[in-house]
Amino acid sequence: MRPSKCIRAAVAAAAAVLLASAGGCREGGDQRPVSRTQLLLGTNSTIIVHGGDPGDEVFDRAFARVREIQDLMSLQYKDSELNEVNRKTGVEPVHVSEETFHVVETALEYAERTHGTFNVALGPIIKAWGISGDNPRRPPNEEIEELLTLIDYREVELDYDARSVFLRKEGMVLDLGGIAKGYAADEAARVLVEHGVEHALVDFGGDIRAVGRRPDGERWRIGIQDPADPSRGVFVGVLSLEQPSVVTSGDYERFLEIEDESFHHIIDPDTGFPAQAGLRSVTIETGNTMLADIHSTAVFVLGLERGLSYIEAQNGVEAILVTDDDEVHITDGLRSTFELREDSRYRLAERP
Ligand code: ADP
Ligand code: MG
Repeated sequence: MRPSKCIRAAVAAAAAVLLASAGGCREGGDQRPVSRTQLLLGTNSTIIVHGGDPGDEVFDRAFARVREIQDLMSLQYKDSELNEVNRKTGVEPVHVSEETFHVVETALEYAERTHGTFNVALGPIIKAWGISGDNPRRPPNEEIEELLTLIDYREVELDYDARSVFLRKEGMVLDLGGIAKGYAADEAARVLVEHGVEHALVDFGGDIRAVGRRPDGERWRIGIQDPADPSRGVFVGVLSLEQPSVVTSGDYERFLEIEDESFHHIIDPDTGFPAQAGLRSVTIETGNTMLADIHSTAVFVLGLERGLSYIEAQNGVEAILVTDDDEVHITDGLRSTFELREDSRYRLAERP
């Protein structure tokens, strides 16, 4: 690879963006939404509460919960529990918290179900690219070839009695980057409810989860980011939902540009390279944000046809897929809730 001066790494705005007001309907008086944002899990994490200010303490508790999850499960945070597991790779099992165990167990279940398309053991490759870190690079092909021998998720051993995780092969690395944010969004929502919040939206860099309905009876409106123009808050269209739990994975979220080539952060485990399956973004709606997070990453790698059949095989999962050639595919359950932006370059695909 030629050395290059024009390397650009970027983390774009959230994949899906919350739209503040619904169709001009005001909530009235002092009931304006109150929001707080913190940089957590490597992204802007925002909580917006409607129907009255719950007070700083409630926000603080919700964010503290997210920080706990970050400290357990982040690959970027050196002292995380996850990295303890990663340090003991090939050496010994590591006893972990109930929740890390639960998230790893869920990730492995879906690694199995997707035949490794969603692969929690991709860590060596993710680290080699470093796209979510400070020093992204394009690893040489030989390096990727070699690392592909270290990503077999079946070599991750769970011991239910000891509650431990063991990476059997030296050099293996677990990465929960495709699932932890969704889990954190569910947990933040739970904490808000516990503290009496009835109407809120949690938006962790495109992993969006509602608490209750909007207090004005309108639906929550969620803009699906235009993959071609992520920095300006332009939308492909808008989803209006009563209680959304919506996650988007896109190639424009985090990427590395080297001269004319662009490398994003969703990896095809078959090749070790950023997935190029003809999609620019995948938005998933389902009751559980952690699962939506898994599905969005998996479907992005699978591509349009295989992705749509995968979604069909899941229970209660809906999706919006934006393709490289500007088509928008929507599953039946979301059709009536999605509105394409009027002057959009995108076209709604015909039903199959
Ligand atoms: P984001 O985290 O930007 O919202 P995703 O939910 O799609 O996007 O997750 C991408 C992250 O998941 C990557 O940054 C990486 O840590 C991890 N990852 C990348 N490819 C895969 C894959 N095929 N299976 C599981 N995790 C992946
Ligand atoms: Mg994901």
